[in-house]
Amino acid sequence: MITIGVPAESPEEPRIGLTPETAKKLVKLGATVLIRSDAGFSSHFSDDEYKAAGAEIVATDEDAVKSADIVLTVRRPSLALVQAMKQGSMLIAMLDPYSDANGLQTLAKTGASLFAMELMPRISRAQSMDVLSSQANLAGYKAVVDAAAEFDRALPMMMTAAGTVPAARVFVMGVGVAGLQAIATARRLGAIVTATDVRPAAKEQVASLGAKFIAVEDEEFKQAETAAGYAKEMSDEYKKKQAALVADHVKTQDIVITTALIPGRPAPKLLSKAMIESMRPGSIIVDLAVERGGNAELAKAGEVVEHNGVRIMGKLNLSGAIPVNASSLYARNLLAFIEPMIDKKSGALAVNWNDELVRGTLVARDGMIVNTMIAERVVASKTKTRNGTDVAAKNDGAAKRPVPKGSKA
Ligand code: NAD
Repeated sequence: MITIGVPAESPEEPRIGLTPETAKKLVKLGATVLIRSDAGFSSHFSDDEYKAAGAEIVATDEDAVKSADIVLTVRRPSLALVQAMKQGSMLIAMLDPYSDANGLQTLAKTGASLFAMELMPRISRAQSMDVLSSQANLAGYKAVVDAAAEFDRALPMMMTAAGTVPAARVFVMGVGVAGLQAIATARRLGAIVTATDVRPAAKEQVASLGAKFIAVEDEEFKQAETAAGYAKEMSDEYKKKQAALVADHVKTQDIVITTALIPGRPAPKLLSKAMIESMRPGSIIVDLAVERGGNAELAKAGEVVEHNGVRIMGKLNLSGAIPVNASSLYARNLLAFIEPMIDKKSGALAVNWNDELVRGTLVARDGMIVNTMIAERVVASKTKTRNGTDVAAKNDGAAKRPVPKGSKA
């Protein structure tokens, strides 16, 4: 029999990695499910619903983890919590693996097997486990809804007896999962939408959503997508051409949603101060990349910055602002990952350590970091430059990611 434990998240994190729906399925698979009292409160999942699903409610985080074979969290938990886990047990979470490599190594030394869901290989078998997609999709939606709420004008065109209200112009920069949902949401609200990306595959997707694609479509653009489907860091020459195009376009836009990311790298800077200054007062920018250093020059993590009447919104954890859906999708992602680890007949833990998805997400085991990329970051962060700057932090905006106040990380 396997035991699954779910402690509470920090007060700043409204999401939770277990819902009554997934608890019920895990219990059906033969698992004992322990959840800390009120852990689902911010996502509106009550202790009674978890109990009805067959889970046991426990009084403390320690009670939730100390006998568990698998511990599920949303964010990287505190060292104390990982130390309270049973020797050799597994922690499955969004560990934010590109940040604070040393902190990860400290957790690794406890001997727990650490899994970062963000590192899930993007192959079709793993689509139901893709936490980046499930959360980015909601964030893209929320970015547009937040922008619309902050905007002092309407989004759709309205023909009234008193005259016509013009449609707002929305520009989406970066058309991955979040960007595509931002386009779809802005279109549903009646805005005139344009979008840009460096990957050619984005062009057709943008058109299929009824938006107009604008980009520098040169030879480099044709090669910008990696085998994994992500964007490459573009050359300085491309960046210059892209900046000229964006500068010309952005001054006519009312709302700009930026979502551009390059895995493991700082977010590309796409909106300069001069571009922001060219926008009309009352315009809104939502920078979804702010946790990775931001796409907009003036964006500040967790803040709304006003510059010449343009508001630049750098809210963190946008998917967490829709916690019911975000928790439901995240918990299903976790369930899909765990299910094959439970032996159907005996209900015992049966991890296939050679499985591509297990190997892809495993960060640490038996006290050691086993993910090469993170191991290299640990070494880099220990190599101080002459002026005392942390090399990893210098090379990676992600390392500067602000930790929300009171976070357990
Ligand atoms: P992401 O979050 O890494 O980046 C967001 C977007 O920013 C990407 O579209 C990227 O091309 C773009 N970008 C990067 N640098 C840019 C720049 N300088 N200028 C403009 N745009 C820039 O991306 P994502 O949302 O994770 O999606 C990446 C790809 O993976 C997409 O093609 C998506 O459809 C694909 N995907 C595949 C699966 C799967 O299971 N096969 C699942 C989800 C997403």
